[in-house]
Amino acid sequence: MTKVTLIPGDGIGPEIAEATRRCIDATGAKIEWDVQQAGVDIMAIEGTPLPEATIESVRKNGIGLKAPITTPVGTGFRSVNVHLRQAMDLYACVRPCKSYKGVRSQYQNIDLVLVRENTEDLYAGIEYEKGKAETLELISWLNKHSKRPIGPNAGISIKPISVEGTERIVRYAFEYARKNNRKKVTSVHKANIMKYTDGLWLEVSRNVAKGFSDVEFEDRIVDNMCMQLVQKPELYDVIVLPNLYGDILSDLCAGLVGGLGVAPGANIGNKGAIFEATHGSAPKYKGQNKVNPTALILSGILMLRHLKMVKEADALEKAIADIIAEGKYVTYDMKADRNDPTAVGTSQMADAIIARMKKR
Ligand code: NAD
Repeated sequence: MTKVTLIPGDGIGPEIAEATRRCIDATGAKIEWDVQQAGVDIMAIEGTPLPEATIESVRKNGIGLKAPITTPVGTGFRSVNVHLRQAMDLYACVRPCKSYKGVRSQYQNIDLVLVRENTEDLYAGIEYEKGKAETLELISWLNKHSKRPIGPNAGISIKPISVEGTERIVRYAFEYARKNNRKKVTSVHKANIMKYTDGLWLEVSRNVAKGFSDVEFEDRIVDNMCMQLVQKPELYDVIVLPNLYGDILSDLCAGLVGGLGVAPGANIGNKGAIFEATHGSAPKYKGQNKVNPTALILSGILMLRHLKMVKEADALEKAIADIIAEGKYVTYDMKADRNDPTAVGTSQMADAIIARMKKR
């Protein structure tokens, strides 16, 4: 048995986590679930949204499947998601964006993989609040050393991009391309404006690319990349990005393949991996058995592949692809009319997927 930490999260998390666990169990995968809590519900009980036991469990098991977690805005709590990624040094966020027949989208045959750096950049959590003593001290130092004065009412977020951090993520993207028979890696940046951070990213990307002559390399400025992805997504294959651009373009690419309901993800490091959907906890739908479990189920399929449970992953992917293509036992967001009364609930969609696996 392989022990996997299952974090049901909050909001719609517990519903899609249960649907996903049932689908994975139905593949016959030899997985023992170690259920651990994180998010706003456990915060109300234990005073922390990320209990030490949860971090310990993921560290010990090395593999986690995580449903979404709410990040309350402006409460002073750091994002549990960011904290977990940093605690485990899960430096690579891998988000495949693939078209499935039957998913409503303007585009067909999309098959892109985004590789997002997960630990640095403006998401490193190095922030200084407006008016605080250390912020004023930092502003005074900056004003001494820079030609552009900053006023005392500014908040400041720091954007660190290191040679080591860039090297390992770009290398990961190239190795991923090689292993998965992909032809090209595109590195995304804004080096024309941010010379010492994005400029460094671009220079390191070019250096790493020299070691992978069998994989094509190119770079794109992030704003141009957004337009290109909307106009000609078929030109791209593996895309490697710093943290912030990666976050934004992940949602853009999710939009190309039918939206957040179908966008899976993996956070991978040298000591472990956590698999999770791109979407959040959609609190307004909490407890309604309404939302689409597909993104977390697809994340579970990525996890099965990571665990080399290929037969189980293939069986689950075929079954979910069938159910989506038929369009009958799917949630409201997958129907042509979102008010279609024939839409099924989260757990009924999982039931249909499980029944399809048994029939095959
Ligand atoms: P969200 O992804 O939770 O929801 C945005 C909208 O997308 C929803 O209102 C809904 O219409 C749709 N949607 C999302 N998931 C869906 C699903 N499975 N099926 C059908 N429709 C779905 O984004 P948000 O409202 O910006 O964020 C809510 C909370 O989630 C915030 O606190 C945010 O910080 C958090 N969040 C967590 C994660 C994570 O845990 N990895 C990721 C993103 C956001």
